[in-house]
Amino acid sequence: MISHAECGKTWTGNRRAHCPAEGCHETFNSDSAAEKHRVGKPGIDRHCISPAEAGLVPVSKPWGICWQNPGPDNPVWRTSGEGE
Ligand SMILES: [Zn+2]
Ligand SMILES: [Zn+2]
Repeated sequence: MISHAECGKTWTGNRRAHCPAEGCHETFNSDSAAEKHRVGKPGIDRHCISPAEAGLVPVSKPWGICWQNPGPDNPVWRTSGEGE
């Protein structure tokens, strides 16, 4: 179990990504899913949009909502170098 002290949210799985941005603190299935809810240029106007707006789908986990890319998410066939 991993937790983020700032927001108190917890999750499991070390491939997950949690967004530390103020007002966001959503948890994502992977970095590639998390990337989709960030728009703009880093250091200039980079910011979060709502994961639903980014086309991600919410999946209920015992620890809360995990946003993931649409479609089947089966770690068995995911390659280790999962794309950006
Ligand atoms: Zn957080
Ligand atoms: Zn965010």
